[in-house]
Amino acid sequence: MPWGESPSIVLSYDQAANVVRREAETARAAMVRAGERVPLHAAAGRVLAEPVLADRDQPPFPRSTRDGFACRAADFGREPLRIVGQLRAGEAWTGTPVRAGEAVEIMTGAAVPPGADCVVMVEHVSAADGHLRPAAARAMAPGENIVPAGAEAKAGEMVVPVGRRLASPQIAVAAACGAAELTVFLRPRVAILATGDELVGVSETPLPHQIRNSNSSTLAVQVQAAGGEAEVFPVVRDDEAATAAAIPEALGCDLVLLTGGVSMGKFDFVEQALLALGAEFLFTGVRIQPGKPTVFGRLGAKHFFGLPGNPISTMVTFALFAAPVLRAVGGESETGPCFGMSRLEEEVRVKAGLTRFLPASVTSDIHGARVRRIAWQGSGDLTAASRANAFLVVPETAEHLAPGEAVTVLEMS
Ligand code: AMP
Ligand code: MG
Repeated sequence: MPWGESPSIVLSYDQAANVVRREAETARAAMVRAGERVPLHAAAGRVLAEPVLADRDQPPFPRSTRDGFACRAADFGREPLRIVGQLRAGEAWTGTPVRAGEAVEIMTGAAVPPGADCVVMVEHVSAADGHLRPAAARAMAPGENIVPAGAEAKAGEMVVPVGRRLASPQIAVAAACGAAELTVFLRPRVAILATGDELVGVSETPLPHQIRNSNSSTLAVQVQAAGGEAEVFPVVRDDEAATAAAIPEALGCDLVLLTGGVSMGKFDFVEQALLALGAEFLFTGVRIQPGKPTVFGRLGAKHFFGLPGNPISTMVTFALFAAPVLRAVGGESETGPCFGMSRLEEEVRVKAGLTRFLPASVTSDIHGARVRRIAWQGSGDLTAASRANAFLVVPETAEHLAPGEAVTVLEMS
């Protein structure tokens, strides 16, 4: 295919994000995913393939949420209550059900004895001569300071659904339900092919006109963070035949990422090579900075991305477009890029017409997050990117963002 004949489908950010969302859903539905059993702790960061079910009611007994005294709410505050026993967490009540006028000293996490319907906090009573009196006038309502059996989950109820990426809260509930192993989806394999005659390996010494291939490392790490397993292929030379020859092997993976060779240069052959192999293009450009020449499409049943070679473009377009597809292919239900809100510290002026993702530094505390730009020399400036921890999002129509304004940031992994 001669140079210049590939289709031109240039979308806005929102349009491209919609295409990605749609394709991610299609990929998820089409994918037959295998699972593997892994020990509970090794499941952190993986995507759940079989739901975690409550093995019994949670809590399994009416649980006292306070150190105090179990009694009948209707009784409390009238006559002093007679203390008839003590219950520690892990102890079963063997006495008769708690009657009117009685109280049982109880610790946080213990099973509330039958007959009692509330737990008065130890801070709210005084206990002397085996009797309990309110420290100040106070009424108790039935159920106070007790979580009823099964209130959190009923036996057999799903507590973690398929498709959830597992973090500490999900591991914790699985542990509580006795799941020593979990079934998680196998990590999708992602082919990474950097293109460029100027590239040498990280441990090689470049000649003055050469540079090291950093994109394969960037993408390998981003792929891993998005739940995939990176397969880094040898660098592809800027030649249509060489590019076309490298792609079929990459199609053995679940997703293919190419970097470089998608701009308008005379030696940018990626689109032609893909076209020659029968690719269907979903878009060939997005009105964003950095990352305008991003290419997305399908080759047979597999999706591919041709990400622009400029290192910051590569990382931003991966986060925006490739990560959601990868997460869906990996069976994850939450797939969108990680956007957050922040308050702008200094004004930003840009030309309208592109949605911009500018290297930025976000600092946050309990009152919220603040963001400021990191000066950069454009989308090749990896040093600036390495000082940033996020990208400030400037909407396509905006020319000016004022200090103090609430803005969106793209968080990086
Ligand atoms: P390209 O998209 O191929 O036109 O490349 C755009 C810019 O990114 C050029 O300055 C390239 O040298 C640089 N570049 C391309 N691929 C890589 C890579 N794998 N690692 C680092 N820089 C790259
Ligand atoms: Mg190139």
